[in-house]
Amino acid sequence: MTSSEKIRLTEIYQSIQGESSFVGKRCIFVRLTGCNLRCSYCDTEYSFYGGKNHSIGDILNIINDFNCNLVEITGGEPLLQNGVFSLMTSLCDKGNTVLIETSGNRDISMIDPRVHIIMDLKTPSSGESHNNRYENIKHLKTKDEVKFVIGSEEDYVWSRDKLISEKLNELCGNVIFSPVFAQLEYSKIVDWIVRDGLDVTFQLQLHKFIWNPTEKGV
Ligand code: SF4
Repeated sequence: MTSSEKIRLTEIYQSIQGESSFVGKRCIFVRLTGCNLRCSYCDTEYSFYGGKNHSIGDILNIINDFNCNLVEITGGEPLLQNGVFSLMTSLCDKGNTVLIETSGNRDISMIDPRVHIIMDLKTPSSGESHNNRYENIKHLKTKDEVKFVIGSEEDYVWSRDKLISEKLNELCGNVIFSPVFAQLEYSKIVDWIVRDGLDVTFQLQLHKFIWNPTEKGV
């Protein structure tokens, strides 16, 4: 694989991290084009189609110009494109802290071990829970994070049961319960977490409170 290999990209921009244990930190977002899932709550449908091909070398140069060493690879589903693996390795080699956000549907075992993985387990209301790749769980590292996006009480119960049955607190460093934006009363989820004594991080998507929730590139 060479730095001339192409990756299809929707956008690349600098903002602050809105989610995960890196929330609030200045971060470069590299959004790859294309997704094989169709979650009911998806807020990045604009990344499904279009985009432009860029060589890995060009992407590294663009990232370098931002002068920020926290880089998140996201999508769409970034693991659909083979070039993403060498992009992540090149970014790690250059001393960046690299995050990848993935739906959890694609094999994560080939990701460079220096990369910090933030993996979804899709809940029932997403309409995509049948597409969770549970074999991925054994590849999670202690610094990785698992995110449940919760849109209903059924989603909460499902997520709580997966947290326990898959022993996620033992396997990864952070388990996030993130409400679907403006769908459920946020305090209800907090009440359930407290009632059940769960060791999870309740997290709102910070960027949706700072900017218009439909804003792109923030
Ligand atoms: S996996 Fe992510 S990008 Fe793909 S449909 Fe679901 S929320 Fe949207």
